Amino acid sequence: MSTYNLLLLPGDGIGPEVMAEVKRVIEWLNARSNVTGHSFSVEDEMVGGASIDANGVPITDETVDKALAADAVLLGAAGGPKWDELPFEQKPERGLLRLRKDLELFANLRPAICYSALADASSLKRELVEGLDILIVRELTGGVYFGEPRGITELENGERRGINTQVYTTSEIRRVVRIAVELAAKRQAKLCSVEKANVMESGVLWRQEAQWVFDNEYASSGVELSHMYADNCAMQLVRAPKQFDVIVTDNLFGDMLSDAAAMLTGSLGMLPSASLGAADESGTRKALYEPVHGSAPDITGMGLANPLAMIGSFAMALRYSFDMGDEADRLDGAIANVLERGIRTADIMQDGMQKASTEDMGKAVIKELDALVA
Ligand code: NAD
Repeated sequence: MSTYNLLLLPGDGIGPEVMAEVKRVIEWLNARSNVTGHSFSVEDEMVGGASIDANGVPITDETVDKALAADAVLLGAAGGPKWDELPFEQKPERGLLRLRKDLELFANLRPAICYSALADASSLKRELVEGLDILIVRELTGGVYFGEPRGITELENGERRGINTQVYTTSEIRRVVRIAVELAAKRQAKLCSVEKANVMESGVLWRQEAQWVFDNEYASSGVELSHMYADNCAMQLVRAPKQFDVIVTDNLFGDMLSDAAAMLTGSLGMLPSASLGAADESGTRKALYEPVHGSAPDITGMGLANPLAMIGSFAMALRYSFDMGDEADRLDGAIANVLERGIRTADIMQDGMQKASTEDMGKAVIKELDALVA
């Protein structure tokens, strides 16, 4: 029997509400540890505004140490109007940024899955999105958001000049491409590397290094690698998104393309994510799993939050941190079945469907899990 350590950081707003439903799933899995051979030990800590109120900082050093020692971190959300007036360096979101930095999480995974039951909620036609299952792997710690020089300067002629620098090195590109190829190998074995090699030197380097990784390390992986310009990729995502399996791209393009892809699937309350770091000698990666949505102060405490993005993030943890693919498939299957049965939180409500609170939705997922193992 192996026991994995999970650090839970529910955070602010609806974070604790959606995390409570993940705890239900963890308890369900622990009750089956004799079958799976795996159990989870769970520790709760504070992040964001909750930590500011209790400790004066958005995350304490002790909590960061626990995150570094954990097998995976699950995070709810950080932020809210109560802390909006704080200076930038003290804001709740800094807790999250510090975690990403200290855990060196350089690969952000954003799946875009369109459940058949929600296909009509997409802004695209049902036939274009039904059955969609793509994964965008975004480089998270480099590129134009961090490159130097940067800043705004005054020019002698009285104008001002804003500058940011798009910069990537060989190792930064190779490590994220490796993760993407390995993920593609476990899916439909199609990887598309995206840049602007037609107009940017950093794009030329990205394309060359992606190809190098593929030719030198994964030539016999069975994965097919293609390259695409980012502007074309944006068009293809809204024209024929099902042509993609895994997309790997830089920080800036990944930011935009993953949001565009997300909207193909309907609601913010449905979108999970994972951020992964480098593998250690045992092959274990530092990892943080969190829903894409924020703390949703407008619906906090009302039982309206959709917990499926948070539960889906835990399914990603099962898949990518614990190699529990069967359990991850079952949890994803339970989410799909709940939707097929017409159970809906307010954000995805449709005519004729059954309205569910956050807790109802969590319980419905457990009921489906029970049915799937019966
Ligand atoms: P948000 O994602 O919190 O909410 C946007 C809209 O989507 C709101 O109307 C909200 O009610 C709805 N929504 C979000 N998640 C939902 C869910 N699970 N179920 C149902 N409806 C849901 O974005 P925002 O309003 O721009 O930001 C609110 C706060 O969250 C801010 O302080 C912001 O800085 C913070 N934030 C944190 C994160 C994070 O922790 N990763 C991400 C984004 C925003």
